[in-house]
Amino acid sequence: MNFSREQFFHLMKKGALWGILALVVVPLILLAPIEAQQVSLLKTALFSLLWAGVLVVSKFGRFLVLGLKIFALFCVIAFTHRLTFYEIPFVSLFTYSAGCLAVLSGGFLLSNMKRAPWRHFLKTAYSVILIFLFAVPFIYLGHYLLFDSPLNSDAYLALLDTNVNEAFEYITQFIGFGVLLSGFVVLLLIFVGCLYTLTDRRGHKWQLVLAALILLVGTIRVIDQPDTIDLYAGFWVYKQQYAEELEKFREMQKTSSENKGTYQADTAAEGETHILVIGESLNKYHMGLYGYPRNTTPQLDARMEGGNMIALDKAFSSHTHTVQTLTLALTTATQENEQKYYASPTIIDMAEAAGYDTAWLTNQVMMGSWDSPISIIALSADTVKKYNTNIGEHAKTNDFDDVIIDGIEEALANASTENNQFIVVHLMGNHGDYCLRYPTEYAKFQDDLTPEIFGKKLAGDNRQINCYDNSVTFNDYVVSSVIDKLAGAKRLATLTYLSDHADDVINAKGHNSSIFTYDMTSIPFLVWASDEYKDSHKERLDTLREHVDTPYANEQLFHYVLGNLGIRSDVYDPKQDIASTLYEGDKNNLDIVHRKFKWNSAENPVYEYARLNDKWNADEYGRVLPHRINSLGKLMDVRKYGLDGYETDLIFQDGVFKVSHDREDVHNLTLKDLLEYELPGKSMKIWLDVKNLGDQTFEGALSRLTELDVKYDLKDRVIVESSTRSEKFADLSNAGFHISYYLPTGHIDDLLEEKDENGLKAEAQRVSEQAKLQNLSAVSFDIKLYPFVTEYLEQLLPQDIVYHTWDLKKSYEDKDIEAKLGDTKYSSNKRIKTILLDLPSKFHL
Ligand SMILES: [Zn+2]
Repeated sequence: MNFSREQFFHLMKKGALWGILALVVVPLILLAPIEAQQVSLLKTALFSLLWAGVLVVSKFGRFLVLGLKIFALFCVIAFTHRLTFYEIPFVSLFTYSAGCLAVLSGGFLLSNMKRAPWRHFLKTAYSVILIFLFAVPFIYLGHYLLFDSPLNSDAYLALLDTNVNEAFEYITQFIGFGVLLSGFVVLLLIFVGCLYTLTDRRGHKWQLVLAALILLVGTIRVIDQPDTIDLYAGFWVYKQQYAEELEKFREMQKTSSENKGTYQADTAAEGETHILVIGESLNKYHMGLYGYPRNTTPQLDARMEGGNMIALDKAFSSHTHTVQTLTLALTTATQENEQKYYASPTIIDMAEAAGYDTAWLTNQVMMGSWDSPISIIALSADTVKKYNTNIGEHAKTNDFDDVIIDGIEEALANASTENNQFIVVHLMGNHGDYCLRYPTEYAKFQDDLTPEIFGKKLAGDNRQINCYDNSVTFNDYVVSSVIDKLAGAKRLATLTYLSDHADDVINAKGHNSSIFTYDMTSIPFLVWASDEYKDSHKERLDTLREHVDTPYANEQLFHYVLGNLGIRSDVYDPKQDIASTLYEGDKNNLDIVHRKFKWNSAENPVYEYARLNDKWNADEYGRVLPHRINSLGKLMDVRKYGLDGYETDLIFQDGVFKVSHDREDVHNLTLKDLLEYELPGKSMKIWLDVKNLGDQTFEGALSRLTELDVKYDLKDRVIVESSTRSEKFADLSNAGFHISYYLPTGHIDDLLEEKDENGLKAEAQRVSEQAKLQNLSAVSFDIKLYPFVTEYLEQLLPQDIVYHTWDLKKSYEDKDIEAKLGDTKYSSNKRIKTILLDLPSKFHL
């Protein structure tokens, strides 16, 4: 090959163009800010260079079209893998690349087989393989686009367990023929394109040898490492899991029929009815009843106020998937005792043994094998009602959970004064797709999320959160209706409602254990008791009420149910029954997801922040508090973590205090809204940083504060902070409010930096004089000014003036925050009554 200099540069330029394409596209694919982890910069650079090289070689080797096609395949694969599995590890990128290069080499070899007799057949086969390779990521992408969630193992198994007809109906119902058809056309085009791409050519011998080598090595890599290419191998892996599940299912069926009648149990109950309602994917932090700022549970709230209901605050699920949770909850198996759920007694077995009439009403789609073990438990009940057995055939309106209400009525009609009833209801509840879980009249939340509730990041259009909240409202109606039917029966009766697990809706992560968050385990647990039952089983209900704040894993449900049913048996362990006086809550283990996580872990903010709060504030209520609580969502976090109080920024405007840090950007949230929203009965300490107190606003502000004080008892618990130097600030103090002067941060910090001795002394003098005039209760300051306060100001201040401070470089979420705060000089200063720290929150405004 003899190139002139010009020819060489010309070719270089031409090749470089395609190299640059890869250098731009690969980082876009691997670093795109989607709901997935980004690949590290080094790895991104490595694979960008690799593919740039491939494209340059394709260009010079004159198979650029094929090269581009395979490059596109790699991009689609890498992006889809990230989207579906949250992250794409190096080994996966490597195997995918190796596989793609093998396919490319195969194509190159094929186009050199001008004389091979089988070449037409081989070319067609090659195109078919390419279609398959493209089709798989397209299926995943399509699922993501349609359902807004990755095609996970649940969805796989649902499909595996469904016959072809049902699957097709399912797909066409949600996707529609149009989309299916266009998908088919796209694949057909790729197919034809492939045939066309493999035009005959003649390569050098060494090129052919090299291509054959790459084909061989790439193929070996793929075959050797199938678990690194989940996108393709997942089908097989899950199929295997499915086979194992099926095996367990059969064993369970066998044990269940063999053991029938072998369990020893009886009960003292007579004429009682107990209903267990198992919800689906409900997160209690989306229930008004548990403090969600949106009113999603008006009906349950009313029953709560009626005094017949108890809500456990710290119940959590032992896993994040339906079957994994319920196989533990409904049997004696736990993560700790490692009994096999499929060989353990179930709640239905025990109820039957004690002579209860049992019924199981389900609206779950019985097409996923994940549900199979639950189906076996269900099928052992005396009466089984399956609604929505075939999703493909059912009209949408028949699928909603309210179909079970009539079933409950029917079951209750069979009640007599002697027989005991145990009814289990398994709802479809709040499972994704959330928008499909309620009739249109329950589409109460449709507008944009407001910053006042959701903060800046979440505000705006959010269909997922709206649909979820609508489904919670509908669920509220369904569960309350069942309660009403039960109350109408006038029997000794209880209803227990809990969810199998929750969904992490705010982070849009669903309930996938591979991307576990503690939010996925935050389930509601409600117990309703009839008036008749309340009178006769006072001790159980009182005990339950005492345990409202005890961490409780739903894997212990079995023993609670047996306790409720009054069952006497060797199998029943009162130490695990949360309504028993013998309950050993703290001793029970708090494992989650097969012991991979623990509820009482520093990683769980609901546990950890509460622990920090209790520790820091043991001697002085509300000494350490979170900074800048400026939305109802963030205040929900404060409630959720059980913190003693909070700081908020206010602007006095039009006669009310508006929650806002910035005068330019005032929102509609008011101090009154915050006060209304606080946990009833808990009087929180509140630091009010009023940004615009001054001669114009004192009078109005004082009269508003006085008004609010009448209703919310503010005087004992608020700090009114202002940077005003006006003497009129004293009016608030004289009216009985604790007032604090906000030391000017910038000015004093400058003096400290310049070591301006005289300036610091003068400033201290000024502040101390102002303190007298304003009748201050406290001074408040950025912790940077601590040296000024202790060395200059303190000696001039009256002893009864206390300090409040903020140290925003520290956060509740810092790994070693306890030690970090303990190590500071100021934390042991008793004169400091409040320390503000940063609190991370999705709802920050
Ligand atoms: Zn579930």
